[in-house]
Amino acid sequence: MAKPTDLTPFRVTPGKKIRLKDYDTGWMQAEGLKELGKEQSKQKASAMLEQSLAELSNMQQLLYADDRYSLLIVFQAMDAAGKDGTIKHVMSGVNPQGCQVFSFKKPSAEELDHNFLWRFMKSLPERGRIGIFNRSYYEDVLVVKVHPELIQALPDQPIGPSFWQDRYQDINAFERHLQRNGTIVLKFFLNVSKKTQKKRFMERLERPEKNWKFSAADLAERAHWDDYMAAYEQAINATSTEYAPWHIIPADHKWVTRALVAEVIVSALRGLDLSFPKVNAEQLQLLATARAQLLDES
Ligand code: ATP
Ligand code: MG
Repeated sequence: MAKPTDLTPFRVTPGKKIRLKDYDTGWMQAEGLKELGKEQSKQKASAMLEQSLAELSNMQQLLYADDRYSLLIVFQAMDAAGKDGTIKHVMSGVNPQGCQVFSFKKPSAEELDHNFLWRFMKSLPERGRIGIFNRSYYEDVLVVKVHPELIQALPDQPIGPSFWQDRYQDINAFERHLQRNGTIVLKFFLNVSKKTQKKRFMERLERPEKNWKFSAADLAERAHWDDYMAAYEQAINATSTEYAPWHIIPADHKWVTRALVAEVIVSALRGLDLSFPKVNAEQLQLLATARAQLLDES
């Protein structure tokens, strides 16, 4: 059986200031993998993933039956970091009825006419469910910070550091509110290197079956790589909290990303006091009566 890896190197400790350049985008920070070569490491990661997926499927049933908590999983990343593939693989074993995925793109005119959290509020997972945000309200302190001209019409105020501090505070308050109401919030930054992004873009350009994935806009955003890294770093530092921690997940190798994300999710669910609802004496009596009725049918 593949032993779970130590997840602490990937979890951003609240209050600690991290620098993204200290995070390896390969597998050198993964305990149990780092000492292995590529092929062995890949095999081990896939065994870990398989094990986590089996556990996740059971835990999801329990989450649903328990009906007190919901789980919100937020994915943020640069283009081609593997958000879609990670969501597809990690959720492959769960009952589709207990899982909702929302992808957030450029806001519509109606969405821009509301506060920046409005559209996310409407898509939160119901009790007992797992909700996945493929991009999220963090775009409002990431792409919008890199391109401040995207900020919706607001009463005049300078768009300086305090504007962004206010947004981080709003996000923290929102996530705190979710936690107080039974939603577990897990946030993942899939940390791909600039070099690997280039390799994946090249594949999209050179392989006909991948051409559809290429978008010229992705290349334009790549030109702002350093600004994005700075925005991610600041957002992660300001919003990794006990109630909604960030995880920085290496994303240069898809097998590492998937295994680690699955492990973090399973380990968060394991930490909850989930249980199947207990049947009381009155309900037991009803069950016995129903059973007798069915047995009596001719
Ligand atoms: P994929 O490329 O794999 O389909 P994606 O998540 O990159 O997935 P796209 O349609 O390519 O989806 O991109 C969505 C775009 O919407 C991203 O560039 C993102 O930055 C942008 N976006 C998301 N939220 C906002 C926002 N609040 N304001 C402006 N742009 C936003
Ligand atoms: Mg894209």
